[in-house]
Amino acid sequence: MRLDTKAMRYLTAEDWRTLTAVESGSRNHEVVPTPLIGQISGLRGGVHKSISALAKVGLIARLKNAKYDGYRLTYGGLDYLALNTYRKRKDVYSVGNQIGVGKESDIFVVADEQGVQRVLKIHRLGRISFRTVKANRDYLRNRSSGSWMYMSRLAALKEYTFMTALRENGFPVPEPLAQSRHTIVMSLIDAFPMRQISSVPDPASLYAELISMILRLAQYGLIHGDFNEFNILIKEETKREIEGDKETESITLTPILIDFPQMVSVDHANAEYYFDRDVNCIKRFFERRFHFTSDEKGPHFADARKLIGKDGVTRLDVSVEASGFSRKMAKELEAYMKAVGVDGDGDPEAARGDEESGEEDEDEEGEEDPEDGEQTQDAERTEETAEGESSVLPQDEG
Ligand code: ADP
Ligand code: MG
Repeated sequence: MRLDTKAMRYLTAEDWRTLTAVESGSRNHEVVPTPLIGQISGLRGGVHKSISALAKVGLIARLKNAKYDGYRLTYGGLDYLALNTYRKRKDVYSVGNQIGVGKESDIFVVADEQGVQRVLKIHRLGRISFRTVKANRDYLRNRSSGSWMYMSRLAALKEYTFMTALRENGFPVPEPLAQSRHTIVMSLIDAFPMRQISSVPDPASLYAELISMILRLAQYGLIHGDFNEFNILIKEETKREIEGDKETESITLTPILIDFPQMVSVDHANAEYYFDRDVNCIKRFFERRFHFTSDEKGPHFADARKLIGKDGVTRLDVSVEASGFSRKMAKELEAYMKAVGVDGDGDPEAARGDEESGEEDEDEEGEEDPEDGEQTQDAERTEETAEGESSVLPQDEG
């Protein structure tokens, strides 16, 4: 889903109040009755003009339920509310190109007032197509769009909370900058996903670093749950060293971990399964892409368990509950992810949420030549990044 900010310029203060009223009304109404919108916005009868303006640009949608007519917020409307919050707090000044399209998120480059680039991640749960989801169709079908939006909010809140906790404890993750509704703003990492890297000078040391990151996460009580070549960005840094009259250049590769909505505690009932899957993703990728196989078996979950809390570190699986992402929220989000197969119980292809285009990746598993078919994907991305347009958010009242 694109993010067209154009209509933002034409929204009046009343329109924003109306949009906010529809959002508030949605907390306990599937379809928010028109009189209620008038009441919450304080605009009463005057609300109609704003309602039709918002409906016209697709920020709210008219719905009939059995008893009455009313409106609901669309994802577009929710996007605008989040952007408006960022605009007011000066977290985002302009919106640029889309750099990623996951199955359940859209990623945009944005900038602050100084022109420093950032990343806006918009969670869009419920977007995955039903045809790819074999499991739990009924769970999915019975969800309303309102509950999708709620799930997306949970995913964003979870991601922001975990990113903050990880960052505070020295993990190589983007800097979390702001969170609103179903979105987060984080620092832009100037790097490509490992998926797009065809060779590295020293696979063994990168492998070791990634495995030690998995173990360090476990030490802090966490399993990433989607630790793969899409969610590890590889930063290249060139170091110049001058020794006497000799100058040498060396390249260091630093992995940065992203994408946290599916993280689980080491105490999760299926912790071992998730842990093994994370480890095996890396093993398999290194074998196929870099033709590197570690001499060591494992690490196994039993090894990881011994590290939990070692050196008196804070267990982040426990501390996040206190910092806003409650156990109840975790359960709700997990039920959703289970239904769509994010935890591996469903269709594994649907589970990834990472492929820019699911179709292209269909033949990925077990392919002899992993380089095949990736050209298109990378080319697409470059094309998208090359557009170089950005639109400044309106700076007036709202
Ligand atoms: P999804 O949940 O859809 O998989 P991700 O958080 O993994 O979303 O992001 C999708 C893609 O967007 C990543 O593979 C990466 O290419 C890009 N991306 C995400 N966050 C950043 C960031 N902070 N800096 C640079 N690129 C990013
Ligand atoms: Mg991802």
